[in-house]
Amino acid sequence: MKADPDCIFCKIVAGEIPCAKLFADDAALAFLDIGPLAEGHVLLIPKAHYETIDRMPADVAGRVLRHLPALAKAVQSAVGCEGVNVLQNNGRIAHQFVPHVHFHIIPRRAGDEFHFNWPAGKYPPGRAEELVEAIRKELP
Ligand code: 5GP
Ligand code: ZN
Repeated sequence: MKADPDCIFCKIVAGEIPCAKLFADDAALAFLDIGPLAEGHVLLIPKAHYETIDRMPADVAGRVLRHLPALAKAVQSAVGCEGVNVLQNNGRIAHQFVPHVHFHIIPRRAGDEFHFNWPAGKYPPGRAEELVEAIRKELP
């Protein structure tokens, strides 16, 4: 996928904008988020420009995501946090502000300021089965 000249993460990949780089290979780049939710907040991105996860080819996703376990472990060891959230936002409604796929690795500690509202619901009888059928139909 071609770089988008207006994309801030494409500019980081191209070295036109600096970043606090952790590592890069031919498919992926990891660097510190400039506006950390906690110290050690890392972004893992594909070098190629895909706006959202559904547009990203599976093989590219694999070549990027394979770095997640080691990266999560390294962040936890380096900053001494109790856990991490791996977060990936798609679309403005889902809090995506940079339209180039990125995975947040966010260190978590007891009493930190990063709060989720997690309004867990419940399916009425039959609805889960309908949804399984509808989603399965869309799978390749
Ligand atoms: P989103 O809300 O799109 O999932 O998150 C975008 C993230 O990119 C934000 O956490 C923001 O701080 C980070 N970010 C935006 N611009 C830059 C930049 O120029 N450099 C770095 N390192 N991070 C950025
Ligand atoms: Zn981009």
